[in-house]
Amino acid sequence: MKRILVTGGAGFIGSHLCRRLLEMGNEVICLDNFFTGSKRNIYSYLENKNFELVRHDITKEYFAEVDYIYNLACPASPPHYQYNAIKTIKTSVLGMINMLGLAKRCKARILQASTSEVYGDPKVHPQREDYWGNVNPIGIRSCYDEGKRCAETLMMDYYRQNNVDIRIVRIFNTYGPNMDPDDGRVVSNFILQALKGEDITIYGDGSQTRSFCYVDDLVTGMIKMMENPSFIGPVNLGNPSERTILDFAKLIIELTNSKSNIIYKPLPSDDPTQRKPDITLAKEKLGWEPKVNIEEGLLKTIEYFKELI
Ligand code: NAD
Ligand code: UDP
Repeated sequence: MKRILVTGGAGFIGSHLCRRLLEMGNEVICLDNFFTGSKRNIYSYLENKNFELVRHDITKEYFAEVDYIYNLACPASPPHYQYNAIKTIKTSVLGMINMLGLAKRCKARILQASTSEVYGDPKVHPQREDYWGNVNPIGIRSCYDEGKRCAETLMMDYYRQNNVDIRIVRIFNTYGPNMDPDDGRVVSNFILQALKGEDITIYGDGSQTRSFCYVDDLVTGMIKMMENPSFIGPVNLGNPSERTILDFAKLIIELTNSKSNIIYKPLPSDDPTQRKPDITLAKEKLGWEPKVNIEEGLLKTIEYFKELI
């Protein structure tokens, strides 16, 4: 049994991670400021004697005695991280410094939830971990992309300078139950639009690609990475099955039996044109690859959204 701190534990991925860690018999401290997270996501764990909920903002120092820290606190959808861009950078940078300080003090292992956004609009396809990326430092996505890049730098510097035991995972687009219906991401938008019979809004011409990973697969990969005795990463975690956003919209219409029409809206600036993880390293070092196919994962996600509305 370990005592584990999960920052951002009331969010979409964090809530699944907390559940899995509790099921494994660990003690979990879920720390969240509820900016995008919700008590609904973690309500069912509140009675568990091994679960503790703390309302706290990671841009402020936090003290606890823990063995592992999963640092997930940070808004992840473009509308949410752009809502208060300066706060987003503070969360990635000051929050990372605070969590690394905590890890250093109590000799905890710390895993950072980094992102495929560190590759920006990639010129290398699929993206491997040794690709340095193509990121606009002054655009509307920069608060998130550059914040996460700086967080990776901090992780590496605390590792080199202070021997902090680090793990870095680069998460690619993930979906599943507990996604916030209002977060504006493509999966939640398309499913809700399809279920309500509203127009499905494609930004741009729909030729941009993404690769979607079901949340259970992702959480398995994160835990494997945390428990690996020596491999620090960075490692890509995502599902390499790539599709265009237009094909994705058609798939959602089919799986929901919807009569919705597809409409086109302007593409937001710096929207990456293609994204697909090369997961060779994860397979080799962690023995990990995704197991859930897109239809199966989407049907579970559709059920979740049906219950919500
Ligand atoms: P989410 O928005 O659902 O969860 C983020 C959680 O962090 C929320 O509960 C929010 O309230 C909390 N939070 C935000 N700022 C905070 C702060 N300053 N202090 C304390 N708590 C704070 O997003 P998610 O999809 O669950 O993403 C979790 C992590 O994974 C994020 O760090 C995100 O960057 C990373 N990630 C997610 C994806 C994805 O596809 N979902 C892809 C790449 C990376
Ligand atoms: N997108 C879209 N319609 C929507 C929401 C998003 O066409 O209602 C597009 C968006 O422009 C991007 C892709 O879908 O090309 C994925 O967007 P999301 O916000 O989910 O994540 P991103 O990978 O861009 O961070």
